[in-house]
Amino acid sequence: MQEGVGIVTSQDEYNHVFDLLQQHHKWFQQCIPLIASENIASPAVREALTTDFGNRYAEGWPGERVYAGCRFIDQVEFQCIKLMKKLFKAEFVDVRPISGVVANLVVYTAFTEPGDTMMALSIPAGGHITMGKKKLGGTAGAVHGLIVEYLPLDYKELTIDVDRAKNRIKKLVGEGRSPKLVMFGASVFPFPHPIKDLADIIHSFGATIGYDAAHVAGLIGGGQFQDPLREGADVVSLSTHKTFFGPQHGGVLSWETNAEKIKRAAFPGMLSNHHLHAVAGVTVACAELLEFGKEYASQIVKNAKALAQALYEGGFNVLAEHKGFTQSHVMLIDITKHGDGGTIEETLEKANIIINRNLLPWDIKEGRHFMHPGGIRLGVSEITRLGMKESEMTEIAEFVARVIIRKEPLEKVKADVMEFRKDYQKVHYCFENATEAYKYIKIR
Ligand SMILES: *Cc1c(COP(=O)(O)O)cnc(C)c1O
Repeated sequence: MQEGVGIVTSQDEYNHVFDLLQQHHKWFQQCIPLIASENIASPAVREALTTDFGNRYAEGWPGERVYAGCRFIDQVEFQCIKLMKKLFKAEFVDVRPISGVVANLVVYTAFTEPGDTMMALSIPAGGHITMGKKKLGGTAGAVHGLIVEYLPLDYKELTIDVDRAKNRIKKLVGEGRSPKLVMFGASVFPFPHPIKDLADIIHSFGATIGYDAAHVAGLIGGGQFQDPLREGADVVSLSTHKTFFGPQHGGVLSWETNAEKIKRAAFPGMLSNHHLHAVAGVTVACAELLEFGKEYASQIVKNAKALAQALYEGGFNVLAEHKGFTQSHVMLIDITKHGDGGTIEETLEKANIIINRNLLPWDIKEGRHFMHPGGIRLGVSEITRLGMKESEMTEIAEFVARVIIRKEPLEKVKADVMEFRKDYQKVHYCFENATEAYKYIKIR
């Protein structure tokens, strides 16, 4: 059945859902997935996600639940906390936040009051919408009532500008608007943020240092990026499905002294059910990262540098060439010479190459809109998990150049992408991979 044609009965509707799901799986087997915020979970994580845990409630802290039936759920959640503490060398971990957005809301609730000032990167500078101002509908402003002031980005270095940040902080303090929370971290996060350089000044007036590790959690766990808790962060929020290759979920890391306020913000503040099947999946992913994370994260950084270099040599304006393009999984490309980010994204998708449009830090000032920005963002987490290495990065850069620069027929490139993709159907960096990465699993 195609496009809903011929749907008459509820049974048809029922079949149609499965038809679409299966088509999605088949398509992803044949694509090159380069969305920086995505990844593929292992068959073990997918198995955990199908369990009865997903039908249960476990409000409260493990061992002190306000629901019955949690005997095994509690043990899994304790195991998850234990493994995450080990992975991130954290004194306190809360694995209940069901996503990175909820994790950030837990942080805002635990450490600030509505009306307080928070500092973070703006969205064109790589900040996430959860850090956004009220007028933009951002979570910090519109949901928690924070006044958001921006941390300055150095456009050339693609990281926070320390001197300008210090000046801006001093200015706010001078005006009696000292920030209560300074959030580091970003959605375009090629280089570490200068927490160490700013920690003293931020702590000097009693503010909290937050670090949004949604994108880089798997790299931190694998020892390949900065270590925010050792550099001065008081609290770290996570997504568990970007470079951290688990199911879609979240988490918060902190120090024991902050435990009670974080717990209370999570429940009763932010959660009732907390996706217990996902907690089980995160536990499995933690074990995989403890075993394979180092190797995985170091390959990610090698692949990202290799892909960026190959694209650069192929004629693309990959930013931050003078410092090796990236130290993480992600790179930012100024695509204005070839079109706008939105159109480029659509064109590449027709050749089975999945990337996303992205604002460049200076786009808004230059009058570009987020639907048609000047940039594209590419990440290598998922292709790394599929077992690709540096030589495959060269091939991928070539596919992208054939579409965007040489404007070859899309059907022809797509056929070659599908052929290339056949060899990468298993998930790597995991204990068991008998089932193929995107295999559709039927248990009806
Ligand atoms: C993706 C992202 C989030 C949101 O994470 P979800 O798990 O999708 O809710 C938060 N912060 C940053 C910086 C992100 O990139």
